[in-house]
Formats: sequence, structure tokens, C-alpha cells
Amino acid sequence: MITAAPRHLRASYDVVIVGGGPAGLEAAVAARDNGAAHVLVVDRDQEAGGILLQCIHSGFGLHRFGEELTGPEYAQRVVASTLEHDIDVIADAYVLDIDERRRVKLMTTQAGVSLVEARAVVLAMGARERTRAAIRIPGTRPAGIFTAGLAQRLVNLYGLLPGRRAVILGSGDIGLIMARRLTLEGIEVAGVFEIMPYANGLNRNIVQCLHDFDIPLHLSTTVVEIRGQNRVEGVTVAPLDETLQPRLDRAWDIPCDTLLVSIGLIPENELSQQMRLRFDSATRGPVVSSAMECSRDGIFACGNVVHIHDLVDFVSAEAMVAGRSAGQYVAGTLPRPDNVQLQPGANVAYCVPHTISTEREHTVYLRARKPLDACTLQLTEPDGTPVYARKLRYVFPAEMVNLKLRPAILQNFHGSILRVNIVERATEGE
Ligand SMILES: Cc1cc2nc3c(=O)[nH]c(=O)nc-3n(C[C@H](O)[C@H](O)[C@H](O)COP(=O)(O)OP(=O)(O)OC[C@H]3O[C@@H](n4cnc5c(N)ncnc54)[C@H](O)[C@@H]3O)c2cc1C
Repeated sequence: MITAAPRHLRASYDVVIVGGGPAGLEAAVAARDNGAAHVLVVDRDQEAGGILLQCIHSGFGLHRFGEELTGPEYAQRVVASTLEHDIDVIADAYVLDIDERRRVKLMTTQAGVSLVEARAVVLAMGARERTRAAIRIPGTRPAGIFTAGLAQRLVNLYGLLPGRRAVILGSGDIGLIMARRLTLEGIEVAGVFEIMPYANGLNRNIVQCLHDFDIPLHLSTTVVEIRGQNRVEGVTVAPLDETLQPRLDRAWDIPCDTLLVSIGLIPENELSQQMRLRFDSATRGPVVSSAMECSRDGIFACGNVVHIHDLVDFVSAEAMVAGRSAGQYVAGTLPRPDNVQLQPGANVAYCVPHTISTEREHTVYLRARKPLDACTLQLTEPDGTPVYARKLRYVFPAEMVNLKLRPAILQNFHGSILRVNIVERATEGE
């Protein structure tokens, strides 16, 4: 059932899941399918579905369902599957705390604070957007500055227009999608400005959201000043030199009443921090095993709270692992602990999970630090001895790379540290 009434809840559950986005809902179904009799999903929003509910564009579900769905359509499928599995979902409920004994403290408007006991917990709280404050843009503090996701919520869920003429800072996917959305709603988008020399969103979004609508993309360029007293009146932008310093002598002014900042997402990790989980400074999410188990026994995590995904399909795949593991943990059938440690090496920003097992098949998710054409994804021992290699046509920081590892590749590396590298083909093996 979906309920906002905690009186319908049990006092204890096998698995409690924090966050009812695609990660939390998929994890709930997998937990049920793997031995958990009583599963509860808690979400702070008015309804389950997560960020997908405001993503009304298509582009979701090609891997998971073999169809191109909108965000709400994808969400509807996972919500329906959750309900078919007889899982309790409570909306408008905020998880405040999870203590050492896995007692989950919830707060709802109806019943105030309640405690629910959990034998296992899955963290699936998603991510939040970086704001203007994260990059300290100089200038005044007028109205009219939005994060791209907030603007998306205003336009798609509440039917409100943020302004009439917009500048977008950052070429991540949300900014690109909003450039198209604002244009379709009659707002003039003066341009998208990106600090890096390459775009930060998926190539399909550059083509479909910018090129198809003649919206200019200015690479190696940033906003150096915001002007306006009550409302934004304009911004100043400037190109950057090789050291990423703005060339103020070449700056120019753009009149606009709206600035959208689309400068990245950060895992929503207050709870994980309160719980003192071990963190990865690159992902800014918890360190996880191949079972998606965190550094505390019986606490699992998946989705954007672990690392930022570009496709929801991979969120679902990862959540199935976390949910399955939580179910197995409760049933006492969780496979033996991992015996190989993975480390990001050359041109790899991070890899998740952080440990794997020589006995099972794994999908490792990783991101390149910088774009490379014609390169090789390598697994090596710390001294450089090759373990595995796969050719890639290109890598791009905005596109997550999936590495499938089978036990046959890993069988001799019990107890090892393995490094993941992405190298140019010419330097391969040096
Ligand atoms: C603007 C935007 C556009 C996107 N476009 C695409 C696309 O075209 N194609 C695609 O495949 N993917 C796209 N994605 C990516 C995809 O939507 C996300 O990767 C996916 O939704 C992440 O799922 P999640 O469950 O980890 O997080 P979320 O969907 O963010 O869900 C997290 C949930 O946790 C809840 N929560 C957080 N903290 C608490 C707490 N303490 N107590 C209770 N509840 C809590 C939140 O309310 C939220 O409902 C897009 C993402 C964004 C932001």
C-alpha cells in the first residue's frame, strides 16, 4: 500500500528503504524477491517516484525495458511493480536518523516522530544540486537565479515560467534538457556556458536539446558576474585561459532575467554521514562492496546516493543488487565477502563497487577524468602487470563506463588490489 499514515505501519520490518525513487523502489522489489517478507519504503515527497516525476522528456528505460519512456512512465512501472510485491510505501515521511541498532526514526506531518526497527536498511536518498554558492559567482543576489532541476520542477510540475530570457551555466544533462524545455515554453535561451573545453552532458542531449534548437554552446567560458538589484538584469561571461582563469579583457555582457545553474549533483548523504559510514572522496558517496553493502553491517546503498548516474537504467540495475543483498542478509544467505580491492588508476575518476569477489560476475561502473578517443580500458596489478583489457572507441567524463568482469578473468587474483586504467592506445603497455 502507499500510505501517508504511519498507524498502518508495522513496528519492525525486514528491510527499510530510505528514498522512494527508482533506486529505492527497485531495491524493495529485489529484497522481497530474495527472502524479505516485510519491506518498507519511506519517501519525504508527496508521492513515490523520485526525480523521475519531474523529468517529462523521453529517454528513460532503453536498457531496462527496451523502450523509450518518459520519467513519469518509468516511475509508474516501478511503483506498480512495488505494489504488486505487497511492499509498504510511506510518502510525506522524512527519515531523520538510523541508529546503531538499525532503528529508523521517521517524521511525518500526521504522526510526528515514529521509530521502526529494521533488520537491514537500504539507503537510496538520491542527490541534490550544486548551487551558485558552490562556485561563488561574484555579483549581486537578486531573484531569478535557479538550479536547473528547480526550474524543471517549476515548469513541469507547477506550470510556472522562471523568466523570459535565460542564460544557462553548465552543460550537464539537466541544463541541456532545460535549455530545450525553456525554448519550447517560449523563453529565449541566450546560450549555455561551460567552464570545461568539452560539454558535460550526454552527446544525444547536446544534439537534441541544443543543436536542434540553434542554442549556442560556449565551451571554456563562464559567468563572471551577476547583475541586478531585485531581479537579475544581466550576466557577464568571459572565456577562460588554459589555467581556467577568466580572460576579463574579453568578457561580454548578456541581458537576461534568469540564470540557471547546472553545475552538477552531489549525493544526498546527511544520513550516511550521521551514520559515520566510510566515504569515497571522489564519488562523495559511501564506499560499497559488490553486494552494495556499506562499511556498516546490514546497511546497503544504491543509486545517486552512491555515485551520480547519467541513466536511470543503471540505477535500477545497481538497486537490484542492493535489494537482493539486503534480502539475502536477512535470510542469512548473503554470499561470502569480497576478496579483491579495486582502485581507480590512470584517467579514472572513480570505480564502484570498491571491492569485488573472484567467485562472482560483476558490473563495475566508472568514469573517465578526461575525454579520450581510441583508448583501452585495462585492469592491472599495482605493478602494471595486465589482467584484462578492452578497447573503447572513446571515453567522456559525462558518460559512465560499464565494465563486466567474469570469475574466469579474476580467478587468480584472490586477495589482490587491481587497478582500473583508461589509456590511449599508443601508450598501452608502456
Ligand atoms: C533533471 C534530471 C534529468 C534526467 N534525465 C534523465 C534521462 O533523460 N534519462 C535517464 O535515464 N536518466 C535521467 N536522469 C537520471 C535519473 O533520473 C536519476 O539517475 C535517477 O532518478 C536517480 O534515482 P535515485 O532513486 O537514486 O534518486 P531520486 O530519483 O532522486 O530519488 C531519491 C528519493 O529519496 C527521497 N529522500 C531523500 N532523502 C530522504 C529522507 N531523508 N527521507 C525520506 N526520503 C528521502 C527523495 O525525496 C527522492 O524521492 C535525470 C536526472 C535528473 C535530475
